[in-house]
Amino acid sequence: MAAPLLIGAPAAANGSFPSTEGNTNTASILTYDDTITELTKLEKNSRFPVDVFTLEEAGTAVNKSEQGRDLYVATVGNGPEDVWVQGRIHGNEPYGAESILTLLKDLGTNGSAEYQQIRDAFTIHFIPMYNPDGSELNIRQTVLYDDATGEPLLNDAGQQQRIDLNRDWVADKFQADESLAFYEYWTMVKPDYGIDIHHQGLKQQYGTGDDVTLSLGISLAPGGPTLPTLQGGAYDLLTRQMHGFVFQELSKYGYITMDRYQVGGNLEIDIKGGVVSAMMLGLDYQGMNPTGHSNPVVFFETSGNTSDGSLGQKARGKSIQQNVLAMKSLLSGLATDEVQQVDPEVWEEIPHAPVAGYSTDYAGFIPVSF
Ligand SMILES: [Zn+2]
Repeated sequence: MAAPLLIGAPAAANGSFPSTEGNTNTASILTYDDTITELTKLEKNSRFPVDVFTLEEAGTAVNKSEQGRDLYVATVGNGPEDVWVQGRIHGNEPYGAESILTLLKDLGTNGSAEYQQIRDAFTIHFIPMYNPDGSELNIRQTVLYDDATGEPLLNDAGQQQRIDLNRDWVADKFQADESLAFYEYWTMVKPDYGIDIHHQGLKQQYGTGDDVTLSLGISLAPGGPTLPTLQGGAYDLLTRQMHGFVFQELSKYGYITMDRYQVGGNLEIDIKGGVVSAMMLGLDYQGMNPTGHSNPVVFFETSGNTSDGSLGQKARGKSIQQNVLAMKSLLSGLATDEVQQVDPEVWEEIPHAPVAGYSTDYAGFIPVSF
């Protein structure tokens, strides 16, 4: 059972847990209620069918956030292949939700051939706000709640427990209700492709020093310790083609400066606990994915966050616009098979620091010549 409905209740009564981090002005950021309002409007007014539902309505056993909020999905398109698009798994990374709502609106209203081709090829499952509790608190994680008391679940030291939902799809974890709920929905959908939207701090492009607006990421590094071993190397190829296509398409727009997502200056990530990594690994948690379904996923990291204050806020419109373009281009390229024709070596052309190794969540640092 999920926690009793606590929407509107203070998430933390004990003052040590601020409702927002820092002094960020979050007035212009989409709230949970705003998201529901917008989804409802799109379902009602769209020219092409948009279906909005909760995971409770979809029939997952666990179907509410830790604080008891409904978890929303909206589908558009009636194609044979399914695409999973998730935003705001990290509550303080807001534009994923807004980008998804913008693209959902476009797909629900735009009658042009390009959008029709996307709707004909795919059924797209949009999750605008994977982490509603964290979004309302403007924090990265969710907070575990005690179902019985409706209060935060305290650990032995009497502290609240914050869970990073993007490290929780792991066999010995699934600590948060949101993780189980969306994992079960994933096993129901068995998507063919996935897209995940995040934010990062401000950074500069290797070589030019230009401010990066969008980093292209794959959570299991191409050519790294893990990805080449999956599906006979198919995802190692396809994820590089997916981002290679996005890079080629978005390079036409002067306001977008891209690079590859790296950490620590020159490390690729190879993180098995991330939701989208678990999708690529075909995680079978408690026998819920007995066929070992898996799918390739890429992620986008927009530069500038609510924690970057006015600097991040200033770029809001462009940040949303570039995410919408990136998602639409990728969906279009997959629908036309243009993605599958991209030379995977384009991945090497995307600006990045020479790779020194891999930052992992299972073996620490692994040098590049592993
Ligand atoms: Zn994130």
